[in-house]
Amino acid sequence: MAICSILSVGYSLPEVISETEEVLIRKFDLEPAYEGSIPPDPTASREGQLLAERQLQNVLLEKPNEALFALAVTPYDLYSRGLNFVFGVAFPFKGAIVSYARLLSENRDLFFSRVRKEVTHEMGHVFGLPHCPNPHCVMHFSNSLADTDRKGEDFCPACKKKLDAVKRRLKIL
Ligand SMILES: [Zn+2]
Ligand SMILES: [Zn+2]
Repeated sequence: MAICSILSVGYSLPEVISETEEVLIRKFDLEPAYEGSIPPDPTASREGQLLAERQLQNVLLEKPNEALFALAVTPYDLYSRGLNFVFGVAFPFKGAIVSYARLLSENRDLFFSRVRKEVTHEMGHVFGLPHCPNPHCVMHFSNSLADTDRKGEDFCPACKKKLDAVKRRLKIL
């Protein structure tokens, strides 16, 4: 089984880590390896928000050689150049970072479902998948929490087919 290391940027809730591990196993046939946490990079932050790409670069530097990909989760809100906020960012075939700052809800099931959707979406990009026009597909672009809540947790048949082809190419399947 290919390994995907998980790092927390700052302190992430243990439940978020376990939901993330479940997604990696169930959806991507990856073996999760939690590596602990690293502090946010203060040179890539503004008013409590972190610059997603720079934090992800730092996470990739921590990735053990035996891991195929690295996935970071963070309670901090993320921004990107030209974007006020992002739910996450991915570097295809390298890794991704997902923030749960905007996913929080008093409804725990809803919160965990959002976490699973955003982790699945960003990891889909790590596997090279583009955005999908199907509004119910997990690879549909989310511009807001309403978009995230509208879409499902799963890949549509077309995206699933693409994902399986990449898994076979990477010899994960
Ligand atoms: Zn996306
Ligand atoms: Zn799709």
